Amino acid sequence: MSPPNLHSPPHSRPADEDTRLVLHAAAHGLTQMVLRTDIAGMPLEWIDYREAARLYHQEQVAYTCGSLIYSLYGGVSARTGLRTVVEVSSIVATVGHTGNPGNTRHDYVPPLNNETLFRRDAHLCLYCGGRFPSRELSRDHIRPFSQGGRDVWTNVVAACRRCNNVKAWRTPEQAKMQLLAVPFTPTYAEYIFLKGRRVLTDQMAYLQAHFPRSSPLHDRIQRWLS
Ligand SMILES: [Zn+2]
Repeated sequence: MSPPNLHSPPHSRPADEDTRLVLHAAAHGLTQMVLRTDIAGMPLEWIDYREAARLYHQEQVAYTCGSLIYSLYGGVSARTGLRTVVEVSSIVATVGHTGNPGNTRHDYVPPLNNETLFRRDAHLCLYCGGRFPSRELSRDHIRPFSQGGRDVWTNVVAACRRCNNVKAWRTPEQAKMQLLAVPFTPTYAEYIFLKGRRVLTDQMAYLQAHFPRSSPLHDRIQRWLS
């Protein structure tokens, strides 16, 4: 897939000035995370503006896509007399060591945690279908530990407290409760998406292009957007 809005790297100059960075004319606050990919465009991780600035300064940004999310102004260079500017895009492709096993290994299993699990299940209780804030959801083990169930993505779903209490130590069949969706292990790209706190539209489209065709997240995202 060729990413949309491909730009050459914005003008960044050598970092021989102080490293103080100032936000300027940004459409998004500095809390907006940048999606970092490898040189081939495979999603790697979310990085904050400091890490993005470091990558630009070290000339590790090969190309960018997506939209300009902020300009970082450094100090004035003693050598050139010019103020350094780094224009940070929502998606940056970087060279060098990735340090991230997920995008190359097909058997990669992302770590399981409640926050990501609840996002996978769109904050729905997968028994009653109600939508709940995280604090009212729990991690239900479909096949309970007491019956040999494991703490893995394919054996857990988000459940409201009431449903979790009703089901207790039983399987859904034993409790005569029906699961509304089949639990799945996120791929690496899906996991990155689920970890995102505030995912911009272009970042979402980019990540979605790396999801498997059969990903249940396609439908869920469609519903969030409508
Ligand atoms: Zn419920």
